[in-house]
Amino acid sequence: MCFKQEDDDLTYERRNYTKEAAQKKKLFLWVNHKFKPTLPNEVCAGCSEPLNKKGRFCYYSGKNYCSNCHINDKALIPAKIVQDWDHQSYYVCKEAYRIITLHAKDPIINLELECPLLYQKLFTLKKIKELREQAVVIAVFLRSCKNALTLLNYVRNCLHLMDSVHIYSLHDLHEVKRSHLAPKLSRHIRTCLEHITKDCESCKGKGFYCELCKSPELLFSFEINKITKCDTCKMVFHSTCAEKHGLNAAYFRTFNPACPRCL
Ligand SMILES: [Zn+2]
Ligand SMILES: [Zn+2]
Ligand SMILES: [Zn+2]
Ligand SMILES: [Zn+2]
Repeated sequence: MCFKQEDDDLTYERRNYTKEAAQKKKLFLWVNHKFKPTLPNEVCAGCSEPLNKKGRFCYYSGKNYCSNCHINDKALIPAKIVQDWDHQSYYVCKEAYRIITLHAKDPIINLELECPLLYQKLFTLKKIKELREQAVVIAVFLRSCKNALTLLNYVRNCLHLMDSVHIYSLHDLHEVKRSHLAPKLSRHIRTCLEHITKDCESCKGKGFYCELCKSPELLFSFEINKITKCDTCKMVFHSTCAEKHGLNAAYFRTFNPACPRCL
């Protein structure tokens, strides 16, 4: 696991997606197969035994098998979830069942590449994307804290959700369908924020006070929706305060230095 500050989500997505994930991704087939009856002379796709028209269809490989190679296991089909958001379990052969269950929890599905339309179709996924964008900046912040190792270990099961925006495991997508993922992610974000803003002196030390309103509330660089940052001195203000003083983000970029500290 890399703890470097510049390990941003883009780097993570590229690194993981192109190296390990692309490798594993080959294990998942992306063809959405429809049922095909066994043909008269067809043989088992696993062991080549004659099927005598009594083959068992595998919805993962799209082929027919004998009763040794296919024992009527059922599994989620990656292609059906990603393409049709179909979360039913379908009959699969032994080998398909092994592959699907073995890799169900591997974060190897890049939804933006595999099916960007799902974000438009499903409000929940759009909401989770926003949560993950927030989680990514929080995770980067936490990785620079020595006291956060226990916490990072505690959230490790969904750390890939906080390290990237678009990468899911099959299991994650099923959790989205069952409405479990968003609450879990929100809970983890809350726990991380409690560490940063309340429990950890080292993290609190990286907070800023708004010099415009002198409020005792600590502001953090990752609270992107709430703050305006001076590009020159990196001073952080409430966006609302900055706006009241005519110091919006555009002003900062054009007329640096222009903040109370830089002036
Ligand atoms: Zn067979
Ligand atoms: Zn900390
Ligand atoms: Zn303020
Ligand atoms: Zn400044």
